Amino acid sequence: MQGYVDAGGKILRYPERLAQWKQGRDLYPGNVELDLSDRCNRKCRGCHFAYHHGERDLSPELALSAWHQMRGLGVCAVVITGGGEPTMNPDFEGIVRAFAAQRVGRLPRLGLYTNATRFSEFSSTLWNCFDWVYCSLEDPPREIVEANPETVFGRGRLLDATNCGPKQLAQYVAEWEVSPAHYLQFRPLIEPGTSTIWIHNLLNDLCVWHEYKLPDGRYLDTSRQKFLDYLDSAQGNRGYSTCRACRFIGVIGADGEVWQCVNRRGITSLGNLNSESLHTIWRNAPYSFPVDDDCRIMCRGHALNVTLEQRVFGSVRHGEFF
Ligand code: SF4
Ligand code: SF4
Repeated sequence: MQGYVDAGGKILRYPERLAQWKQGRDLYPGNVELDLSDRCNRKCRGCHFAYHHGERDLSPELALSAWHQMRGLGVCAVVITGGGEPTMNPDFEGIVRAFAAQRVGRLPRLGLYTNATRFSEFSSTLWNCFDWVYCSLEDPPREIVEANPETVFGRGRLLDATNCGPKQLAQYVAEWEVSPAHYLQFRPLIEPGTSTIWIHNLLNDLCVWHEYKLPDGRYLDTSRQKFLDYLDSAQGNRGYSTCRACRFIGVIGADGEVWQCVNRRGITSLGNLNSESLHTIWRNAPYSFPVDDDCRIMCRGHALNVTLEQRVFGSVRHGEFF
């Protein structure tokens, strides 16, 4: 199925980056997540980043400096995310417009994760600066989606034991069908240490919606593999003990701190853009990292790590890229 979300597979489209990695040549992240703010106006159950919420906003000067440096290093995609809710940054609109004005051929691509609660506070043309906008739980207003035809609007729905069964799934799909979002993705609500029995039941229910598409091409991504991965990870079977994804993805925090990955904000810092360049920080970053207790179950690098383990370092098609 054609989809916008392919966290595990997209690295295979960049064999030159895999070759660089394997040869130990300087490899800069292809994808960087940029925190414009650590503040958030919601308190979602299961928020991955609640432990790191604070009062920090990335300054426009540092944001633009980071943008120039990322472009110079060949970063393919910059995702504005959190931390907290990025639109809480008082300079959100100015920063986004400045980024967009300095792109050539819409590169780097620009994405946004948002809870969509503050859409009405910005002009609708702002969203066309993005290549895609992913809204958690909420939907973007229809008039904003329609005014920005080049932008892909997605919607995410977390599923958990207390509100999920065949009826609820059908209800979520029905809500999405009348919403303006181009696609809907289901994800497991991850609460370490809790029972995972509910996932077994849900897997069958999810099959009903596998490859479900609307006549206008909008589609549902059940992310069934994510639920299977969650089961494996919760039982201590990640399938790898070395994280290699951390070299391909980076995150810049709202205070200029560069973290190893989004799930180790405040834990494994590589340096700070206030005192060093991204080039220097990344050149000194580890090429791999032992997975430890601070690595979250099903972290953002999980799908990429599985691909690297199975397709590049495992026996499967080992020679395909080199
Ligand atoms: S909107 Fe996002 S950052 Fe804010 S509490 Fe919810 S999940 Fe966390
Ligand atoms: S949390 Fe995930 S991406 Fe981050 S270092 Fe650990 S395994 Fe790698």
